[in-house]
Amino acid sequence: MIPLEEVRATVLGRVVPLEVVEVPIRDALGLVLAERVTAPDAVPPFANTAMDGYAVRAADTAGATAESPVRLRVVGDLPAGHAPTVAVGPGEAIRIMTGAPMPDGADAIVIVELTARDDQGRDGDDGVLVQRASEPGRHVRAAGGDLRAGEVVFEPGTVLRPAHIGVLATVDAQTVRVHRRARVGVLSTGDELVESGPLAPGKIRDSNRPMLLSLAADAGATVIDLGSARDDEAAMTATLDAAIADCDVVLTSGGVSVGDYDFVSAALEHIAADDPTGASVVEWYQVAIKPAKPLCIATVRGTSVFGLPGNPVSSMVSFELFARPALRSMMGHADPFRPEVLALVDGGLDRRPDGKVHFDRVRVRVEAGRHVVSGVRNQESNALASSAMADGLAILPDGDGVPDGGEVTVMLFT
Ligand code: AMP
Ligand code: MG
Repeated sequence: MIPLEEVRATVLGRVVPLEVVEVPIRDALGLVLAERVTAPDAVPPFANTAMDGYAVRAADTAGATAESPVRLRVVGDLPAGHAPTVAVGPGEAIRIMTGAPMPDGADAIVIVELTARDDQGRDGDDGVLVQRASEPGRHVRAAGGDLRAGEVVFEPGTVLRPAHIGVLATVDAQTVRVHRRARVGVLSTGDELVESGPLAPGKIRDSNRPMLLSLAADAGATVIDLGSARDDEAAMTATLDAAIADCDVVLTSGGVSVGDYDFVSAALEHIAADDPTGASVVEWYQVAIKPAKPLCIATVRGTSVFGLPGNPVSSMVSFELFARPALRSMMGHADPFRPEVLALVDGGLDRRPDGKVHFDRVRVRVEAGRHVVSGVRNQESNALASSAMADGLAILPDGDGVPDGGEVTVMLFT
Protein backbone atom coordinates (compact mmCIF):
# COMPACT_ATOMS: atom_id res chain seq x y z
CA MET A 1 0.00 0.00 0.00
CA ILE A 2 1.11 3.55 -0.79
CA PRO A 3 0.44 6.56 1.47
CA LEU A 4 -2.32 8.90 0.34
CA GLU A 5 -0.02 11.93 0.22
CA GLU A 6 2.39 10.19 -2.15
CA VAL A 7 -0.35 9.33 -4.64
CA ARG A 8 -1.88 12.79 -4.33
CA ALA A 9 1.51 14.45 -4.96
CA THR A 10 1.86 12.33 -8.13
CA VAL A 11 -1.64 13.28 -9.29
CA LEU A 12 -1.20 16.99 -8.64
CA GLY A 13 2.33 16.98 -10.02
CA ARG A 14 0.93 15.91 -13.41
CA VAL A 15 -1.73 18.60 -13.58
CA VAL A 16 -1.45 20.84 -16.63
CA PRO A 17 -3.37 24.13 -16.16
CA LEU A 18 -6.14 24.63 -18.71
CA GLU A 19 -6.00 27.53 -21.16
CA VAL A 20 -7.30 30.97 -20.41
CA VAL A 21 -10.48 31.96 -22.24
CA GLU A 22 -12.66 35.05 -22.34
CA VAL A 23 -16.20 34.44 -21.08
CA PRO A 24 -19.26 36.60 -20.38
CA ILE A 25 -19.47 37.27 -16.64
CA ARG A 26 -22.77 35.39 -16.47
CA ASP A 27 -20.83 32.19 -17.28
CA ALA A 28 -17.92 32.93 -14.92
CA LEU A 29 -19.35 31.89 -11.54
CA GLY A 30 -16.85 29.73 -9.64
CA LEU A 31 -14.09 30.19 -12.23
CA VAL A 32 -10.63 31.59 -11.48
CA LEU A 33 -9.69 35.00 -12.85
CA ALA A 34 -6.62 35.08 -15.11
CA GLU A 35 -6.25 38.85 -15.42
CA ARG A 36 -6.14 41.96 -13.25
CA VAL A 37 -9.38 43.94 -13.29
CA THR A 38 -9.39 47.70 -12.66
CA ALA A 39 -12.25 50.18 -12.32
CA PRO A 40 -12.42 52.49 -15.37
CA ASP A 41 -14.40 55.08 -13.42
CA ALA A 42 -15.35 55.86 -9.84
CA VAL A 43 -17.98 53.83 -7.98
CA PRO A 44 -20.32 55.45 -7.17
CA PRO A 45 -19.80 57.75 -10.17
CA PHE A 46 -21.25 60.80 -8.38
CA ALA A 47 -22.01 61.89 -4.81
CA ASN A 48 -25.55 60.75 -3.98
CA THR A 49 -27.98 60.34 -1.15
CA ALA A 50 -28.03 57.17 0.97
CA MET A 51 -31.58 57.92 2.19
CA ASP A 52 -34.93 59.28 1.11
CA GLY A 53 -35.36 62.83 2.47
CA TYR A 54 -34.30 66.39 1.74
CA ALA A 55 -31.03 67.70 0.36
CA VAL A 56 -30.17 70.75 2.44
CA ARG A 57 -27.41 73.14 3.45
CA ALA A 58 -26.47 71.78 6.90
CA ALA A 59 -25.90 75.27 8.25
CA ASP A 60 -29.57 76.12 7.56
CA THR A 61 -30.72 73.39 9.98
CA ALA A 62 -28.74 74.62 12.99
CA GLY A 63 -30.80 74.47 16.17
CA ALA A 64 -33.72 72.56 14.60
CA THR A 65 -35.67 70.36 17.03
CA ALA A 66 -39.07 68.65 17.03
CA GLU A 67 -40.45 71.46 19.22
CA SER A 68 -38.90 74.24 17.21
CA PRO A 69 -38.38 73.01 13.61
CA VAL A 70 -36.67 74.98 10.88
CA ARG A 71 -38.76 75.67 7.77
CA LEU A 72 -37.08 75.34 4.37
CA ARG A 73 -38.60 76.12 0.98
CA VAL A 74 -38.76 73.02 -1.27
CA VAL A 75 -37.49 74.01 -4.73
CA GLY A 76 -37.50 70.63 -6.46
CA ASP A 77 -38.12 66.87 -6.50
CA LEU A 78 -35.26 64.55 -7.41
CA PRO A 79 -35.87 60.82 -7.97
CA ALA A 80 -32.95 58.40 -8.60
CA GLY A 81 -31.79 58.33 -12.22
CA HIS A 82 -32.26 62.04 -12.85
CA ALA A 83 -29.70 64.84 -12.87
CA PRO A 84 -30.47 67.88 -10.68
CA THR A 85 -31.65 70.93 -12.66
CA VAL A 86 -31.62 73.46 -9.83
CA ALA A 87 -29.24 74.19 -6.98
CA VAL A 88 -30.16 74.40 -3.30
CA GLY A 89 -29.84 78.01 -2.19
CA PRO A 90 -29.88 79.37 1.38
CA GLY A 91 -33.14 78.48 3.15
CA GLU A 92 -33.99 75.92 0.44
CA ALA A 93 -34.26 72.13 0.16
CA ILE A 94 -34.82 69.54 -2.58
CA ARG A 95 -36.94 66.47 -1.94
CA ILE A 96 -34.61 63.60 -2.90
CA MET A 97 -34.77 59.78 -3.22
CA THR A 98 -32.05 57.22 -2.40
CA GLY A 99 -29.40 57.08 -5.13
CA ALA A 100 -30.20 60.49 -6.65
CA PRO A 101 -27.20 62.80 -7.19
CA MET A 102 -26.52 65.51 -4.60
CA PRO A 103 -27.68 68.83 -6.07
CA ASP A 104 -25.27 71.76 -6.15
CA GLY A 105 -25.37 73.84 -2.99
CA ALA A 106 -26.56 70.98 -0.75
CA ASP A 107 -24.09 69.31 1.61
CA ALA A 108 -26.32 67.10 3.77
CA ILE A 109 -29.48 64.99 3.76
CA VAL A 110 -32.23 65.20 6.35
CA ILE A 111 -34.05 61.86 6.35
CA VAL A 112 -37.77 62.00 5.63
CA GLU A 113 -38.56 60.60 9.10
CA LEU A 114 -37.17 63.80 10.70
CA THR A 115 -39.31 66.14 8.64
CA ALA A 116 -42.93 67.18 8.18
CA ARG A 117 -44.41 68.58 5.00
CA ASP A 118 -45.58 72.18 5.25
CA ASP A 119 -47.46 73.30 2.16
CA GLN A 120 -49.21 76.20 3.94
CA GLY A 121 -46.32 78.63 4.05
CA ARG A 122 -46.69 82.37 4.29
CA ASP A 123 -46.92 82.60 0.50
CA GLY A 124 -48.55 79.16 0.04
CA ASP A 125 -45.30 77.64 -1.30
CA ASP A 126 -44.09 74.06 -0.88
CA GLY A 127 -42.17 73.77 2.39
CA VAL A 128 -40.63 71.27 4.80
CA LEU A 129 -40.20 71.45 8.57
CA VAL A 130 -36.82 70.03 9.60
CA GLN A 131 -36.97 68.61 13.11
CA ARG A 132 -33.30 67.92 13.79
CA ALA A 133 -30.06 69.75 12.99
CA SER A 134 -27.89 68.06 10.35
CA GLU A 135 -24.18 68.29 9.62
CA PRO A 136 -22.17 68.44 6.36
CA GLY A 137 -21.84 64.99 4.73
CA ARG A 138 -24.71 63.41 6.68
CA HIS A 139 -26.22 60.49 4.64
CA VAL A 140 -24.16 61.53 1.60
CA ARG A 141 -22.30 58.78 -0.32
CA ALA A 142 -19.12 60.28 -1.78
CA ALA A 143 -18.16 59.75 -5.44
CA GLY A 144 -15.55 56.97 -5.52
CA GLY A 145 -16.37 55.93 -1.95
CA ASP A 146 -16.56 52.25 -3.02
CA LEU A 147 -13.91 52.24 -5.77
CA ARG A 148 -11.69 55.03 -7.10
CA ALA A 149 -11.22 55.45 -10.86
CA GLY A 150 -8.24 53.30 -11.91
CA GLU A 151 -8.24 51.27 -8.68
CA VAL A 152 -7.35 47.57 -8.91
CA VAL A 153 -10.52 45.64 -8.20
CA PHE A 154 -9.39 41.99 -8.47
CA GLU A 155 -6.03 40.28 -8.95
CA PRO A 156 -5.45 37.16 -11.08
CA GLY A 157 -6.22 34.00 -9.09
CA THR A 158 -9.43 35.41 -7.59
CA VAL A 159 -12.18 32.79 -7.39
CA LEU A 160 -15.32 34.45 -8.76
CA ARG A 161 -18.23 34.24 -6.33
CA PRO A 162 -21.63 35.92 -6.84
CA ALA A 163 -20.52 39.23 -5.30
CA HIS A 164 -17.52 39.32 -7.67
CA ILE A 165 -19.86 38.96 -10.65
CA GLY A 166 -21.82 41.98 -9.37
CA VAL A 167 -18.65 44.03 -8.93
CA LEU A 168 -17.48 43.08 -12.44
CA ALA A 169 -20.77 44.35 -13.87
CA THR A 170 -20.44 47.59 -11.93
CA VAL A 171 -16.96 48.27 -13.37
CA ASP A 172 -18.30 47.42 -16.84
CA ALA A 173 -16.20 44.24 -17.21
CA GLN A 174 -18.82 42.41 -19.30
CA THR A 175 -16.40 39.60 -20.18
CA VAL A 176 -13.43 38.31 -18.19
CA ARG A 177 -10.37 36.17 -18.88
CA VAL A 178 -10.57 33.03 -16.74
CA HIS A 179 -9.13 29.51 -16.65
CA ARG A 180 -11.64 27.49 -18.60
CA ARG A 181 -13.83 24.75 -17.22
CA ALA A 182 -12.45 21.21 -17.57
CA ARG A 183 -14.46 18.90 -19.85
CA VAL A 184 -15.03 15.86 -17.67
CA GLY A 185 -16.49 12.63 -19.03
CA VAL A 186 -17.99 10.07 -16.65
CA LEU A 187 -18.18 6.37 -17.53
CA SER A 188 -19.61 3.54 -15.45
CA THR A 189 -18.44 -0.03 -15.89
CA GLY A 190 -20.11 -3.29 -15.04
CA ASP A 191 -22.50 -5.88 -16.51
CA GLU A 192 -24.68 -5.53 -13.41
CA LEU A 193 -25.65 -1.92 -14.10
CA VAL A 194 -28.96 -0.69 -15.47
CA GLU A 195 -30.12 2.88 -15.85
CA SER A 196 -33.64 2.66 -14.42
CA GLY A 197 -36.78 0.57 -14.10
CA PRO A 198 -37.49 -2.85 -12.58
CA LEU A 199 -34.40 -4.95 -11.81
CA ALA A 200 -33.77 -8.37 -13.35
CA PRO A 201 -31.94 -10.83 -11.05
CA GLY A 202 -28.33 -9.73 -10.39
CA LYS A 203 -28.82 -6.21 -11.68
CA ILE A 204 -28.53 -2.91 -9.77
CA ARG A 205 -29.15 0.68 -10.78
CA ASP A 206 -26.16 2.80 -11.71
CA SER A 207 -25.69 5.35 -8.94
CA ASN A 208 -22.05 6.30 -9.49
CA ARG A 209 -22.52 7.98 -12.85
CA PRO A 210 -25.18 10.50 -11.78
CA MET A 211 -23.25 11.07 -8.54
CA LEU A 212 -19.88 11.62 -10.25
CA LEU A 213 -21.45 13.85 -12.92
CA SER A 214 -22.88 15.93 -10.08
CA LEU A 215 -19.62 16.01 -8.13
CA ALA A 216 -17.70 17.11 -11.24
CA ALA A 217 -20.28 19.78 -12.11
CA ASP A 218 -20.17 20.98 -8.51
CA ALA A 219 -16.38 21.28 -8.80
CA GLY A 220 -16.91 23.65 -11.75
CA ALA A 221 -16.43 21.24 -14.67
CA THR A 222 -18.45 20.88 -17.86
CA VAL A 223 -19.67 17.28 -17.69
CA ILE A 224 -20.21 14.68 -20.38
CA ASP A 225 -22.23 11.54 -19.71
CA LEU A 226 -20.34 8.66 -21.31
CA GLY A 227 -22.87 6.03 -20.31
CA SER A 228 -21.97 2.60 -19.08
CA ALA A 229 -19.50 0.05 -20.49
CA ARG A 230 -19.93 -3.74 -20.31
CA ASP A 231 -17.24 -5.82 -18.60
CA ASP A 232 -15.51 -6.57 -21.88
CA GLU A 233 -11.94 -5.51 -22.57
CA ALA A 234 -12.42 -4.65 -26.24
CA ALA A 235 -15.65 -2.70 -25.69
CA MET A 236 -14.13 -0.80 -22.77
CA THR A 237 -11.02 0.03 -24.81
CA ALA A 238 -13.13 1.43 -27.67
CA THR A 239 -15.32 3.51 -25.32
CA LEU A 240 -12.35 4.90 -23.39
CA ASP A 241 -10.43 5.65 -26.59
CA ALA A 242 -13.27 7.85 -27.86
CA ALA A 243 -13.72 9.49 -24.44
CA ILE A 244 -10.02 10.34 -24.16
CA ALA A 245 -10.14 12.09 -27.54
CA ASP A 246 -13.07 14.25 -26.40
CA CYS A 247 -12.33 15.10 -22.73
CA ASP A 248 -9.72 16.78 -20.54
CA VAL A 249 -10.49 14.31 -17.75
CA VAL A 250 -12.26 10.96 -17.78
CA LEU A 251 -13.68 9.46 -14.58
CA THR A 252 -14.54 5.77 -14.62
CA SER A 253 -15.97 3.79 -11.76
CA GLY A 254 -15.64 0.09 -11.07
CA GLY A 255 -13.36 -2.45 -12.67
CA VAL A 256 -10.17 -1.44 -10.83
CA SER A 257 -10.06 -4.08 -8.10
CA VAL A 258 -8.32 -7.42 -8.47
CA GLY A 259 -11.39 -9.30 -9.71
CA ASP A 260 -11.50 -11.36 -12.90
CA TYR A 261 -13.68 -8.76 -14.66
CA ASP A 262 -11.70 -5.65 -13.79
CA PHE A 263 -10.69 -4.33 -17.21
CA VAL A 264 -10.16 -0.58 -16.76
CA SER A 265 -6.38 -0.70 -16.29
CA ALA A 266 -5.99 -3.20 -19.14
CA ALA A 267 -8.05 -1.05 -21.51
CA LEU A 268 -6.01 2.03 -20.62
CA GLU A 269 -2.77 0.07 -21.15
CA HIS A 270 -3.91 -0.78 -24.70
CA ILE A 271 -4.64 2.85 -25.49
CA ALA A 272 -1.39 4.05 -23.91
CA ALA A 273 0.59 1.49 -25.91
CA ASP A 274 -0.80 3.00 -29.11
CA ASP A 275 0.41 6.52 -28.18
CA PRO A 276 3.17 7.28 -30.75
CA THR A 277 4.77 9.86 -28.41
CA GLY A 278 5.25 7.22 -25.72
CA ALA A 279 4.32 9.87 -23.13
CA SER A 280 1.25 8.08 -21.82
CA VAL A 281 1.39 6.51 -18.35
CA VAL A 282 -0.98 4.13 -16.59
CA GLU A 283 -0.54 3.35 -12.92
CA TRP A 284 -2.53 1.21 -10.56
CA TYR A 285 -2.31 1.81 -6.83
CA GLN A 286 -3.38 0.29 -3.58
CA VAL A 287 -3.69 3.45 -1.53
CA ALA A 288 -3.37 3.13 2.27
CA ILE A 289 -6.86 4.50 2.89
CA LYS A 290 -10.33 3.17 3.71
CA PRO A 291 -12.61 3.37 1.84
CA ALA A 292 -11.27 3.75 -1.74
CA LYS A 293 -8.12 1.62 -1.63
CA PRO A 294 -7.82 0.73 -5.36
CA LEU A 295 -7.15 3.56 -7.79
CA CYS A 296 -5.98 3.65 -11.38
CA ILE A 297 -4.53 6.94 -12.61
CA ALA A 298 -3.43 7.50 -16.15
CA THR A 299 -2.37 10.28 -18.44
CA VAL A 300 -3.19 9.09 -21.93
CA ARG A 301 -2.63 11.34 -24.97
CA GLY A 302 -2.82 14.37 -22.67
CA THR A 303 -6.06 13.34 -20.98
CA SER A 304 -6.13 12.47 -17.28
CA VAL A 305 -8.07 9.34 -16.41
CA PHE A 306 -9.14 8.46 -12.89
CA GLY A 307 -10.18 4.84 -12.55
CA LEU A 308 -12.21 5.17 -9.36
CA PRO A 309 -13.36 2.16 -7.35
CA GLY A 310 -16.87 0.82 -7.95
CA ASN A 311 -18.38 0.81 -4.49
CA PRO A 312 -20.38 4.04 -4.42
CA VAL A 313 -18.89 5.39 -1.19
CA SER A 314 -15.37 4.51 -2.37
CA SER A 315 -16.07 6.25 -5.66
CA MET A 316 -17.18 9.39 -3.87
CA VAL A 317 -14.25 9.42 -1.41
CA SER A 318 -11.75 8.74 -4.20
CA PHE A 319 -13.21 11.61 -6.23
CA GLU A 320 -12.92 13.90 -3.19
CA LEU A 321 -9.33 12.93 -2.40
CA PHE A 322 -7.83 12.73 -5.89
CA ALA A 323 -10.01 13.86 -8.79
CA ARG A 324 -11.50 16.99 -7.24
CA PRO A 325 -8.18 18.58 -6.22
CA ALA A 326 -6.79 17.73 -9.67
CA LEU A 327 -9.79 19.31 -11.43
CA ARG A 328 -9.66 22.43 -9.27
CA SER A 329 -5.93 22.72 -9.80
CA MET A 330 -6.37 22.44 -13.61
CA MET A 331 -8.97 25.19 -13.43
CA GLY A 332 -6.49 27.53 -11.75
CA HIS A 333 -7.38 27.23 -8.07
CA ALA A 334 -4.29 27.96 -5.94
CA ASP A 335 -5.82 25.94 -3.09
CA PRO A 336 -7.70 23.04 -4.68
CA PHE A 337 -8.61 21.31 -1.40
CA ARG A 338 -11.75 21.30 0.70
CA PRO A 339 -11.51 23.24 3.96
CA GLU A 340 -10.49 21.23 7.04
CA VAL A 341 -11.39 22.04 10.64
CA LEU A 342 -10.59 20.49 14.02
CA ALA A 343 -13.84 19.17 15.50
CA LEU A 344 -15.10 17.66 18.72
CA VAL A 345 -16.27 14.03 18.41
CA ASP A 346 -19.75 13.22 19.68
CA GLY A 347 -20.23 9.50 20.34
CA GLY A 348 -16.74 8.33 19.32
CA LEU A 349 -15.39 7.20 15.93
CA ASP A 350 -14.18 3.62 16.33
CA ARG A 351 -11.69 1.80 14.12
CA ARG A 352 -8.94 -0.84 14.38
CA PRO A 353 -5.25 -0.50 13.35
CA ASP A 354 -4.81 -1.70 9.72
CA GLY A 355 -2.08 0.51 8.26
CA LYS A 356 -4.64 2.80 6.59
CA VAL A 357 -6.02 6.27 7.14
CA HIS A 358 -9.80 6.04 7.48
CA PHE A 359 -12.22 8.60 6.09
CA ASP A 360 -15.43 8.28 8.08
CA ARG A 361 -18.54 10.02 6.86
CA VAL A 362 -19.80 12.37 9.54
CA ARG A 363 -22.62 14.78 10.21
CA VAL A 364 -21.25 18.16 11.22
CA ARG A 365 -22.94 20.73 13.44
CA VAL A 366 -21.75 23.86 15.21
CA GLU A 367 -22.31 24.09 18.96
CA ALA A 368 -21.15 27.06 21.04
CA GLY A 369 -18.86 28.08 18.18
CA ARG A 370 -17.22 24.64 17.82
CA HIS A 371 -17.61 22.10 15.05
CA VAL A 372 -19.01 18.86 16.46
CA VAL A 373 -19.11 15.63 14.43
CA SER A 374 -20.92 12.34 14.77
CA GLY A 375 -20.50 9.30 12.51
CA VAL A 376 -23.27 8.29 10.11
CA ARG A 377 -24.85 4.99 11.09
CA ASN A 378 -23.32 2.81 8.40
CA GLN A 379 -19.69 3.25 7.33
CA GLU A 380 -19.72 0.35 4.81
CA SER A 381 -18.33 1.34 1.40
CA ASN A 382 -21.54 0.33 -0.41
CA ALA A 383 -23.80 2.33 1.94
CA LEU A 384 -24.48 5.33 -0.24
CA ALA A 385 -27.71 6.27 1.54
CA SER A 386 -25.75 7.18 4.66
CA SER A 387 -23.35 9.29 2.55
CA ALA A 388 -26.18 11.60 1.67
CA MET A 389 -26.48 12.42 5.37
CA ALA A 390 -22.78 13.30 5.67
CA ASP A 391 -21.50 16.87 5.73
CA GLY A 392 -17.86 15.87 5.70
CA LEU A 393 -15.19 13.21 6.13
CA ALA A 394 -13.45 12.72 9.48
CA ILE A 395 -9.78 11.85 8.96
CA LEU A 396 -8.84 9.01 11.32
CA PRO A 397 -5.11 8.20 11.36
CA ASP A 398 -4.10 4.54 11.74
CA GLY A 399 -4.92 3.38 15.27
CA ASP A 400 -7.95 2.90 17.49
CA GLY A 401 -10.08 5.85 16.45
CA VAL A 402 -11.21 8.81 18.51
CA PRO A 403 -13.24 8.43 21.73
CA ASP A 404 -16.32 10.45 22.64
CA GLY A 405 -15.16 13.99 23.50
CA GLY A 406 -11.88 13.64 21.55
CA GLU A 407 -10.79 15.77 18.62
CA VAL A 408 -10.60 14.91 14.93
CA THR A 409 -9.75 16.76 11.70
CA VAL A 410 -12.73 16.96 9.33
CA MET A 411 -12.82 17.74 5.64
CA LEU A 412 -16.00 19.76 5.05
CA PHE A 413 -18.23 19.31 1.99
CA THR A 414 -18.98 23.02 1.76
P1 AMP B 1 -16.06 -3.43 -9.06
O1 AMP B 1 -14.90 -2.64 -8.58
O2 AMP B 1 -16.37 -3.22 -10.50
O3 AMP B 1 -15.90 -4.87 -8.71
O4 AMP B 1 -17.31 -2.91 -8.24
C1 AMP B 1 -17.35 -2.95 -6.84
C2 AMP B 1 -18.78 -2.85 -6.34
O5 AMP B 1 -19.33 -1.59 -6.73
C3 AMP B 1 -19.73 -3.88 -6.91
O6 AMP B 1 -20.62 -4.25 -5.89
C4 AMP B 1 -20.43 -3.16 -8.01
O7 AMP B 1 -21.70 -3.68 -8.30
C5 AMP B 1 -20.55 -1.78 -7.44
N1 AMP B 1 -20.64 -0.79 -8.51
C6 AMP B 1 -19.76 -0.62 -9.53
N2 AMP B 1 -20.15 0.36 -10.33
C7 AMP B 1 -21.30 0.85 -9.81
C8 AMP B 1 -22.17 1.91 -10.20
N3 AMP B 1 -21.93 2.63 -11.29
N4 AMP B 1 -23.27 2.14 -9.43
C9 AMP B 1 -23.51 1.41 -8.32
N5 AMP B 1 -22.70 0.42 -7.90
C10 AMP B 1 -21.60 0.13 -8.64
MG1 MG C 1 -17.29 -4.14 -11.90
